[in-house]
Amino acid sequence: MSSLPANHPSTPISINDPSYVRVLDTTLRDGEQAPGAAMTAAQKIAVARNLVLLGVDVIDAGFPISSQEDFDAVKSIAEEVGSAQGGHVPIICCVARCSKRDIDAAWAAVGGVRRSRVSTFLATSEIHMKHKLKKSRDEVVAIAGEMVAYARNLGFQEVGFAAEDSLRSDKDFLCRVFGAVIKAGASTVIIADTVGCSIPSEIGKLIAYIKANTPGIENAIISLHCHNDLGLANANTLAGIEAGAREVEVTINGIGERAGNAALEEVVMAIKCRKDLMGGIYTGVNTKFISATSKMVAEFTGFNVQPHKAIVGANAFSHESGIHQDGVLKFRGTYEFISREDVGLDPTSESGIVLGKLSGRHALKSRLLKLGYDLDEEKLAEVFKKFKLFTAKKKHITDDDIEELVCSKSVQSQPIWSLADLQVMHGTMGFSTAAVKLINLDGTERIACSGGKGPVDAAYKAINNIMQTPIKIVEYTNSAVDGINAASLTHVVVSEDKDHIYTHCPSLEANGHSNGHISSGKPNGHSMSFSASGENLDVVVSSVEAYLKAVNRLLAKKQSI
Ligand code: MN
Repeated sequence: MSSLPANHPSTPISINDPSYVRVLDTTLRDGEQAPGAAMTAAQKIAVARNLVLLGVDVIDAGFPISSQEDFDAVKSIAEEVGSAQGGHVPIICCVARCSKRDIDAAWAAVGGVRRSRVSTFLATSEIHMKHKLKKSRDEVVAIAGEMVAYARNLGFQEVGFAAEDSLRSDKDFLCRVFGAVIKAGASTVIIADTVGCSIPSEIGKLIAYIKANTPGIENAIISLHCHNDLGLANANTLAGIEAGAREVEVTINGIGERAGNAALEEVVMAIKCRKDLMGGIYTGVNTKFISATSKMVAEFTGFNVQPHKAIVGANAFSHESGIHQDGVLKFRGTYEFISREDVGLDPTSESGIVLGKLSGRHALKSRLLKLGYDLDEEKLAEVFKKFKLFTAKKKHITDDDIEELVCSKSVQSQPIWSLADLQVMHGTMGFSTAAVKLINLDGTERIACSGGKGPVDAAYKAINNIMQTPIKIVEYTNSAVDGINAASLTHVVVSEDKDHIYTHCPSLEANGHSNGHISSGKPNGHSMSFSASGENLDVVVSSVEAYLKAVNRLLAKKQSI
């Protein structure tokens, strides 16, 4: 295989160290191919920067020939993260069909980086060659070899060749194609389970066969690209590694075409946690950046991660049963086999233990201590009783809820503003209006009205017009309690919107919208958030109660500072 620049700080170890497994991240190419997952160029660059922090060896940045937009995105990723002078500089890769036009576009997009790579691809299964390519076996071998040589001659430091639909290809033919491309200068041969049809034992056997029967295979890295159509992408990837693959193609959160690709976080953590079973193999990934990168990709693509998703799901490190909580509090290792710190979660963060209806007194006491309340047994028993009643209404109890349980009498008895009257009008015309009368602690009454996108929005804006404090709604949830005789339970979390410059205008404009609106701008830095719940038979009233309580807490805190 070709030699790699000697000055590169990382990755080349993969060539010489049989235990090193290269990680190629294809979130920006295959991940983005998922319908609806499109990212803007700026978002792609942000993800690419995080992939550098993660320390992935290769970034698959896209498919430059597919559109001008893709070309520009690949080029800007190459310029942003592929040309840095210091630190970890990953190989910047893009894909190309076996055609000169494709490969030329790839070279134009990534040729200028410190470590450039193109992964050429061509189908090798009978079904693809016959129906899609309409080419014979001999023609496929000739084209693959010729195009790999062409790419090598253009100047790519690494050239990969992916046999599309490898798992449905004839094994001996696959070995023949791989032998030809290695001879032509391919440094990586990629086994692609394009349709996601394989199972771990099959992958293992195929790789063993390829290793035994492909001329020159000792000079190339065997890479694996698995899809999750049977839910086996990660298992197949691990089986491939055990059989000798030394590069894996993965995506953040496992996003990708159809059922997705193998997930970076799951494959990497499986290797990290169970390398003892896999001959001491390792990757160069700095797993501490997994959580942040996962959140970023979820936000940018709009593909939320399911709560019970391994490694990065919201519940992945949450323990709700009393027995588990007790165990984790005594020693995390009892029920946590993966360390939270290893994936970049704060070990002291509240999300580790979810207080809910199954939580015991011990978990509550421990949380109270963390919040700074060292209660005697009698007071603890009282709070625990209130806590149990509260959990019947609300599934997950936050730190703010707990503080309210402890302080409800001493701190919350005198709200600064309380609701006197509320009147809303709404219907099908696209906007709602609300009039609100609030009474201040000093006895003064204020009335304001506002329009809004719905009755709750209108009422909140009317309240804002009275309070004149810029508020950002961090969270709003509404649920029905007790089924058909539903009471509405609203939970809101608010924080001060420090970016917002409040323009006073309590009157309605001609179009029915108040311009005393809430900015959606992101605050600079962290601001304290305040949560509260409201319960009423009417959804607007419960929403207003919750909001008033939360804003009162915020105002009280502001006054106390
Ligand atoms: Mn794919």
